[in-house]
Amino acid sequence: MADHDGEQPLEQGGPAAAPVAFGVPEREEQEGVSTNGQGPVVVADSVARRYGAGETAVDALRGVSVDIEQARLTAVMGPSGSGKSTLMHILAGLDKPTSGTVEVAGTEITKLGDNDLTKLRREHIGFVFQFFNLLPMLNARENITLPLTIAGEKPDAGWVDKVVSDVGLQDRLDHRPSELSGGQQQRVAIARALVSRPTVLFADEPTGNLDSNTGQEILQLLRNSVDTLDQTTVMVTHEPRAAAIADRILFLADGLIVREMRDADAHEIVVAMEQLGA
Ligand code: ADP
Repeated sequence: MADHDGEQPLEQGGPAAAPVAFGVPEREEQEGVSTNGQGPVVVADSVARRYGAGETAVDALRGVSVDIEQARLTAVMGPSGSGKSTLMHILAGLDKPTSGTVEVAGTEITKLGDNDLTKLRREHIGFVFQFFNLLPMLNARENITLPLTIAGEKPDAGWVDKVVSDVGLQDRLDHRPSELSGGQQQRVAIARALVSRPTVLFADEPTGNLDSNTGQEILQLLRNSVDTLDQTTVMVTHEPRAAAIADRILFLADGLIVREMRDADAHEIVVAMEQLGA
């Protein structure tokens, strides 16, 4: 956990180092990425995103610079329409900025072509979505290993077993999504994201479709994967109790990061959101 409170300047840089624990695959792109738990794995510089043109143009992001720290959980909060989804999509290489740059694991991604971007996402990025996005015809085990299957990789059985047991799905592997509860489906989605050991995991409102207790269990799983696997995670949420598990919270308003907090509790987050007028 971070060892200081309150608002912080956005830090830059960090020493180069070797791949992190838990057998992250060797990657040339990891050069320049710190593994000391402080260095950035995603760096956005002056990112702007304009939708449309002319009088109806919308400036969803208006110059966002941020470093996503390794082995930390970063939450992105802000009022509806503040640019959270746009920022996440751009950091994850799903959308391109109108201007500015984004580096993921040392590679500048904004100029990459579709094939290179797909490859980079496959190697470095995991997703957990609000509505789980599992394939209904595949059972839990097949959904979990799907990213490896698509990449033509042979699953590392020991690692798959560990991830499955970490998320508590040992007894559900043969079930299809329709035979699983919402919480179990989200566990499958988390296991699917973790199984390829992504450099960064993006979670988009991961508890938005779950009841409160189940949501807490899912948040605990995400927190555990940061603490025990050093899984760098970025979570977009509008729920203070979800953001409260983060090491660091970025507050967006009107396309800009306007505030940052560390180790805040739900009450402090509610107050901060109220101050943003949300
Ligand atoms: P949030 O996730 O914080 O609710 P978004 O990133 O979805 O915010 O949206 C930021 C702004 O960009 C909003 O004004 C939204 O209406 C606008 N926007 C988002 N996506 C599009 C799009 N595809 N076309 C036009 N405007 C968009």
